[in-house]
Amino acid sequence: MENKKTFKFVVVGGGIAGVTCVEQLASQFPSADLALITAGPHIKAVTNYKQVSRTLEEFGVEERPFTVLQKNYSNLTFIQSAVKALDAKSRCLETTDGKVYGYERLCICTGARPKLFTEDNPYVLGIRDTDSAQDFQKRLSQAKRIVLIGNGGIALELVHEVQGCEMIWAIKDKAIGNTFFDAGAAQFLIPSLEAHKAQKPVPCKRPRYTVEETAGGTSHTFTADRNHKENSAPTQHGSALGPDWHEGIVLQGAEQGGHRVMVEYQCEVEKIFTPTDLLSSPERVSNPETVGSWPVYIKLSNGKTYGCDFIVSATGVVPNTDPFLHGNNFALADDGGLQVDDQMRTSESDVYAAGDVCTACWKHSPLWQQMRLWTQARQMGWHAARCMAAHVLSEPIELDFCFELFSHITKFFNYKVVLLGKFNAQGLGPNYELLVRCTKGQEYVKVVLSGGRMVGAVLIGETDLEETFENLILNQMDLTPYGEDLLNPNIDIEDYFD
Ligand code: FAD
Repeated sequence: MENKKTFKFVVVGGGIAGVTCVEQLASQFPSADLALITAGPHIKAVTNYKQVSRTLEEFGVEERPFTVLQKNYSNLTFIQSAVKALDAKSRCLETTDGKVYGYERLCICTGARPKLFTEDNPYVLGIRDTDSAQDFQKRLSQAKRIVLIGNGGIALELVHEVQGCEMIWAIKDKAIGNTFFDAGAAQFLIPSLEAHKAQKPVPCKRPRYTVEETAGGTSHTFTADRNHKENSAPTQHGSALGPDWHEGIVLQGAEQGGHRVMVEYQCEVEKIFTPTDLLSSPERVSNPETVGSWPVYIKLSNGKTYGCDFIVSATGVVPNTDPFLHGNNFALADDGGLQVDDQMRTSESDVYAAGDVCTACWKHSPLWQQMRLWTQARQMGWHAARCMAAHVLSEPIELDFCFELFSHITKFFNYKVVLLGKFNAQGLGPNYELLVRCTKGQEYVKVVLSGGRMVGAVLIGETDLEETFENLILNQMDLTPYGEDLLNPNIDIEDYFD
């Protein structure tokens, strides 16, 4: 530990949070010694950044060799090795290649890994980085049936992208895509899983909307034919995948044609069997499958048992905190993330954290919530760097405006999706009202009102409403006088509020 090199700033993790943080620090302190320590040879770079509105942003992400960063910042040292231990008292880090580095200020941006419902079953896999996506792709190419567990963004993307393979999609909720949508939006998206029909969009204005129960415990079957994508698989490995991670990866099963998705609602995994286990189990009697024809079997809590080639567990993530915990006093949140305050400080002095590894434990704005997403990883990495700089310079720093309003642009089932504020009425209890406008196959617009004020919105399709709604949410104008006209398709709402 004696001859260790000490840096003014060390950032651990070459994902979007770490790279954004180190870039910001390197440009603000061009003569300070900085280090980026990351496990792989590549880093994630933000490309084509576009501020769409006050809080909405869009950008691409590219995996690049670290040399790109070093070219731009001569004061930056890149260290390719995984951190295996931290001694926060003596301010040093040890890497797996046996080296020790000192720091004055440290930012941990080590991301998160898939939360698998079972850890050591070779037939259960998670998708997180390029390596695991390639493994999935390879196994899929031999597969006739897979079971998908989970109902978040990755699961939604998989059901839409995978073809040539039957997919049993087991979700614990009453509707698909529960992390992002309510049952109404799910109903809007479901036809996208069906065969493409030359169909003219039919406007159907449903201004007041009440959540209807879907038939609990029932199955839903869709089929679809999609064009085969020609492209080559990526070859590198590194941090978590992000938007469009499946672009360039052919998600083709062993069979020809489209895909077939069977949704099992409101159920969880009860048990995994090998073919031999199944022979001696009671499930054998109730199971219509031919015993022994699949390498693995899965029993769901709705009593159904399926044989399949493998199981994908897409049930969320666990923050990568392990190397940092031993011997230190980090406060951890319930989700396992390093607790950070509004200046991205952990409970250890001069140790900051950003991105998927951390949990935002400040008092949130009533219109913001943390979600482990690409955009928030960038925003947190940037804010952490600004806070680290401000603390070094003893300057005041305020929480960035981007944490005022949750906003996210993404794509599901080829539709543009914009989520604003409390888009799913999160934390509002019964005190809200929903307005919905839906044009089948074209757009789905949902507004969440609380006390007559707009607090959230879901916009699916090319609605062009994001900026107007963002303003209405931010300025908290009383919208009671406008009533249902707010979503009247015959009124140009933009002019209305200009
Ligand atoms: P990561 O990108 O995970 O980076 C962590 C970095 O830390 C990596 O470079 C890793 O090598 C390094 N590291 C880890 N441990 C160590 C260690 N001990 N020592 C040194 N280095 C270490 N988000 C969206 O917004 N939209 C999407 O459509 C979307 N789709 C996704 C699809 C998939 C399949 C996945 C897995 C995620 C998706 N996400 C999406 C989430 C998004 O990718 C993450 O929120 C984001 O990448 C988090 O960035 P990060 O920098 O915090 O962590």
